[in-house]
Amino acid sequence: MENAKQVEVKVISKPQNMLKTVYTACRTCYSADSPINIYESEKAQDEDKMLKLITRVISSGHYSTIEHIQVSFAINNISRACSHQLVRHRHMSFSQKSQRYVKEKGQFDYIIPPTVESNPELTAKFNKFMEKISDFYQELVEAGVPAEDARFVLPNASVTSMVASLNLRELIHLANLRLCTRAQKEIRILVKKMCDELVKEEPWLKDYLVPKCERLGFCDEDKSCGRLPIKELALKGN
Ligand SMILES: Cc1cc2nc3c(=O)[nH]c(=O)nc-3n(C[C@H](O)[C@H](O)[C@H](O)COP(=O)(O)OP(=O)(O)OC[C@H]3O[C@@H](n4cnc5c(N)ncnc54)[C@H](O)[C@@H]3O)c2cc1C
Repeated sequence: MENAKQVEVKVISKPQNMLKTVYTACRTCYSADSPINIYESEKAQDEDKMLKLITRVISSGHYSTIEHIQVSFAINNISRACSHQLVRHRHMSFSQKSQRYVKEKGQFDYIIPPTVESNPELTAKFNKFMEKISDFYQELVEAGVPAEDARFVLPNASVTSMVASLNLRELIHLANLRLCTRAQKEIRILVKKMCDELVKEEPWLKDYLVPKCERLGFCDEDKSCGRLPIKELALKGN
């Protein structure tokens, strides 16, 4: 089987007035004016002014202001290994294709990791192994084993799809953790795509949807990729 599975991501829901909503939330904290007046004010038409305030407020850690923004992504063609990592994020909501209700018909789709795919011999063995699993899965189903139990033999490589929703605070956190080169490659590619798709529509978010080292100004990982200096060196000014 050819592994042509590419992750697909689409933003299926987000507020139309994202920047203005965050601005109104930020300004409300420091203004005698009402949120309605702030929202309808002239300043709330000026992107530069809004961004200036938002940047100051977010940098000072006043994160409730970005929790008002909810975004939903439709995600296709990721492995179950990848989805398992994603669902560890506790402020996200998920609706994932069920292996109980959706029976695999014929060879199930699967992801081959690039480190395997770069080796033709290993790829051939990988494909053979997936075929064997598929054959046994079908044997179980044909013997009357319900899909919810037959799926026990399906691997982490199985392809899945989901709708995933989260607020902007959690998305920034997700990007900080999962765009780091220490994160596993598939989830890194997925989260990059989620960020890129949203940034296409909301370019002002580009500076926030970054690996954590860019937010911190240093690397706090044990094994640094060298992109930014580790904490001790950064504190010494190196
Ligand atoms: C490179 C990498 C390697 C990893 N390796 C492993 C591993 O080997 N084994 C493993 O089990 N997991 C591993 N994980 C998953 C990791 O431990 C977290 O479960 C996952 O990254 C979710 O992060 P989080 O808890 O910060 O964020 P979320 O669940 O998205 O929550 C966001 C933030 O909300 C707050 N929060 C949420 N829930 C609570 C709570 N109950 N109490 C207090 N504060 C809360 C925290 O501030 C948290 O950072 C790894 C993650 C990464 C990025």
